[in-house]
Amino acid sequence: MHFFCNVSALETSITQIPGLLPRKAALLLKECNIATIGDLLQWYPFRYIDRTRIFTVKEIVEELPYVQLIGRIEKVEIKGKERTQRMTAQFRDQTGTIELVWFQGINYAREKIKPGVDFLLFGKPTLFNGTYNIAHPELELFSPEKLATASTLQPVYSSSEAMKRNWLDTKGMANLIRQALNMVSAQIKETVPDEIIQQMQLIPLNIAYHWIHAPGNAQELMFAERRLKFEELFFLQLKLLLQNRINKTSIKGFPFEKIGEVFNGFYKNHLPFELTNAQKRVVKEIRADVAKPIQMNRLVQGDVGSGKTIVAFLSMLIAIDNGFQACLMAPTEILAQQHFASLQPLAEAIGVKISILTGSSKKKARDILHADLVSGELQILVGTHALLEDKVVFKNLGFVVIDEQHRFGVAQRAKLWAKNVLPPHVLIMSATPIPRTLAMTAYGDLDISIIDELPPGRKPIFTKHHFEKDRPRVLEFVKSQVEIGRQVYVVYPLIEESEQLDYKNLMNGYEHLVAWFPPPKYHVSVVHGKLKPADKEFEMQRFVKHQTQIMVATTVIEVGVNVSNASVMIIESAERFGLSQLHQLRGRVGRGADQSYCLLLTSFKLSKEARRRIETMEETTDGFRIAEVDLELRGPGDLQGTQQSGTLDLKLSDIVKDNKLLIESRHLAERILQDDAQLEQPYNIRLKLRLKELEKKMMNWGRIS
Ligand code: ADP
Ligand code: MG
Repeated sequence: MHFFCNVSALETSITQIPGLLPRKAALLLKECNIATIGDLLQWYPFRYIDRTRIFTVKEIVEELPYVQLIGRIEKVEIKGKERTQRMTAQFRDQTGTIELVWFQGINYAREKIKPGVDFLLFGKPTLFNGTYNIAHPELELFSPEKLATASTLQPVYSSSEAMKRNWLDTKGMANLIRQALNMVSAQIKETVPDEIIQQMQLIPLNIAYHWIHAPGNAQELMFAERRLKFEELFFLQLKLLLQNRINKTSIKGFPFEKIGEVFNGFYKNHLPFELTNAQKRVVKEIRADVAKPIQMNRLVQGDVGSGKTIVAFLSMLIAIDNGFQACLMAPTEILAQQHFASLQPLAEAIGVKISILTGSSKKKARDILHADLVSGELQILVGTHALLEDKVVFKNLGFVVIDEQHRFGVAQRAKLWAKNVLPPHVLIMSATPIPRTLAMTAYGDLDISIIDELPPGRKPIFTKHHFEKDRPRVLEFVKSQVEIGRQVYVVYPLIEESEQLDYKNLMNGYEHLVAWFPPPKYHVSVVHGKLKPADKEFEMQRFVKHQTQIMVATTVIEVGVNVSNASVMIIESAERFGLSQLHQLRGRVGRGADQSYCLLLTSFKLSKEARRRIETMEETTDGFRIAEVDLELRGPGDLQGTQQSGTLDLKLSDIVKDNKLLIESRHLAERILQDDAQLEQPYNIRLKLRLKELEKKMMNWGRIS
């Protein structure tokens, strides 16, 4: 076929499919981003209907999405007039009858129906007024031979209303795909070397495309899925690894060649505690990175309380030893304040000048700060987004720490890069641990360090679930903790959809607590989003200074606040929180030497997922383990920070469910690049070509969108 001349078969435009009207082609582009035959073939069924299974009328229950029945049709009746006209019939098999209904295409259906012969019926049963019926069933004359030869797993494609109106429903899509596949099947080239195909026990690519769209049986489907998932995951990993290599060789950065007096002086004389091995390892990794004339982009992952701050601080000291300035950016004012409060004494101990800049910094302080930054006198600046402003000019910014990276977008990162002639090294601290394989994929362009060890002497937080009815017992317990001088958080959910009610619950809860813990002996703080920032700050400070024993709050305390005397975290309506959110909240206690407690209060009725979340919280305090379960429950789509990364555009694979294949693909890609970093060997030619194709595709999309 001449039109394949220079283009790979899969890159052929769908407009080349004979009989596909331009209008439909345009619709496919608009609704599904399908431009090429390859796109079309990758419009995978989202599920399959098992056409081998024949039900009986008696077996019908509401949950069945579809049933297939064999029987005869009787009592055909036309009811109503004109616009309300409908046709009904009874479908009978050995076990009973069910009503069929048609609202449209009545004449056509009526012609098709013959009395006294067996039909194979396919349709969705719905419960209406206490009995089941099937609207617009698919009907065909039944013959045993036909059933034996029919494709058994029937694909179901997603399609929009507009597509359905244009005959691009499941059937239409199946037909179109079949046609396209027949057209190009012979030209679909292998994308990986034969050796890999053998080693990974993959089926040929063109067969995989056939079997995914029209599997003869469950096993064919499994083989097809494995091949195509591998295709996605492997090339994704290969791309990420190559990109990472390019970043490392092409983005120049400032080499921090020496470790000097500032770092060594602090390390020897002022380090408030011995670093954990994990902290030491990560500091080493950072030291090795920044010594090179290449910009560092490193993500430090560590559970809440694992001690990321000191690692960041030590890294900043290396910058200072080399004549550079450093900054630390936090997502909220409170967090920035807290970082500043903990770093200031450390910095001052070694004569390093540190300051803070946030949205609420006064003009006069700002002016001084700006001047000190430009002169280079100020060495460390802590702050919020305010640091990004163009007015904030450094003499020589060399190192940037970003806390909680998911709150910063790519554009903001770019702004920071522009603050010096070469981009500063970037260290990102993430308090939301995610499984390593996912991190590698979601943040493929970053190097990753993991602090997988908590400072010594931490007692695991005792976590327990209670139903509402136990509240009095829970409050007795709170009282006993308050009596021995501990402080307590009580957290309420707050979401937009039910904001009014949520506030009401919070305030009711607050009043209830005040009744239990009346002044003047006790004091209860309350903090929520409706308070003015100054009032919020005031209330927080009262708790920090231990002027109040109990802090009632919405999730504002989720990140940050460090009150080591707080030993109890009570989470109200815990079933409404996500797992990683619960874990973050729990991380607010257990910061001191005392035994700490996290009590999860829920209503009596719990969904299966909520139960799993609560149980997981009771079982483990390991953030990475929790992240895994969270991912399993929610899927990676919801994961903070991954949406914007754009690398998770996977059509078939699921990072959680296909984790094993993901890891295998990763290892394979690593091995291949180790032997042949540029993919120049003849045996890697297919890989090189395929990557080029993928790249071209990305560029084309870039132009279009
Ligand atoms: P996170 O990783 O959650 O940001 P932080 O850096 O805030 O954790 O550290 C949590 C607490 O643990 C802080 O009070 C910090 O001073 C303390 N800490 C950090 N590292 C150690 C260590 N190696 N030994 C003892 N305490 C430590
Ligand atoms: Mg922190």
